Amino acid sequence: IEYDDSQQQVMRQRYHMLDELRKALQAEALSIALQPKVDIVTGAAVGFEALVRWQQDDGSMTPPSEFIPVAEAAGLISELDLFVLKKTLEAAHQLIQAGLRLPISFNTSSNDLLRPGYFDEMLKMVTASGLPFNLLELEVTETQAMIEYQHIATQLRKLLQLGMKVSIDDFGTGYSSLAHITELAASTLKIDQTFVARLGQSEGANHIIEMIMRLSDRFGFHVVAEGVETEQQRQLLIAKGCVVCQGYLFAKPMPVAQALEWAQHHIL
Ligand code: C2E
Ligand code: CA
Ligand code: CA
Ligand code: CA
Repeated sequence: IEYDDSQQQVMRQRYHMLDELRKALQAEALSIALQPKVDIVTGAAVGFEALVRWQQDDGSMTPPSEFIPVAEAAGLISELDLFVLKKTLEAAHQLIQAGLRLPISFNTSSNDLLRPGYFDEMLKMVTASGLPFNLLELEVTETQAMIEYQHIATQLRKLLQLGMKVSIDDFGTGYSSLAHITELAASTLKIDQTFVARLGQSEGANHIIEMIMRLSDRFGFHVVAEGVETEQQRQLLIAKGCVVCQGYLFAKPMPVAQALEWAQHHIL
């Protein structure tokens, strides 16, 4: 195969990034930011999501949207996610020490749950942390893979039995979401931010969110809306009965210490 200059450049950049990412993992140079989940009626904090952060030597941040796909393609994602889990468990202990019993969620790639190793190691780490399972939540994006592989559902069901929470991330974007809603091994559905962004502007988005609310009610899922940025979106979500939200309107992802401080001022 012949590559033109620009393709070669993209490949070189990816290799370089992968190399740097490996080094960053080894040096434990990645960190997490915590974004609050908020009760939008009262403004109270009800939980956090841990998001990976990669700061370069020059202080700039490389966004997850750039390096997560590279880590997935190179088979490095499970190691990365287990490192993030370690940081998440530390933060969970800090929250408890601060007197805040708020659950924290961590992200997984569907690759994690398809490969051997991740699940057992994750459970081992959580068990060794001594934290109550109900203060931890696994987020997994609903993909085609998730529906096809009964294996993933079996793992998620085991977590639910142990008392851990399970969220389906970006819900509504996979085409088979609705067809499979009765079989989902999950406690929570996270409404994808693209629907929230179009609230009030698109009848379609309004209807989809209303349908997700009705189905969740019917089948017993909690709902979290993501990417809430405006007061209008907040009002429309309240009107639809969606109480728990995440978004810049309430708080951006913050370093752990700052998130603890924030939470102290947002408890009922
Ligand atoms: P996600 O899990 O859907 O996370 C939500 C993303 O939306 C985060 O971006 C968050 O910072 C951003 N966000 C939160 N509120 C708002 C808002 O009001 N408006 C807008 N426009 N954006 C908002 P982030 O941190 O850049 O992460 C992007 C994606 O990278 C995540 O999407 C997730 O799929 C992936 N990711 C992040 N951390 C991890 C990780 O530790 N492991 C894995 N496997 N994936 C991760
Ligand atoms: Ca997520
Ligand atoms: Ca999401
Ligand atoms: Ca996502």
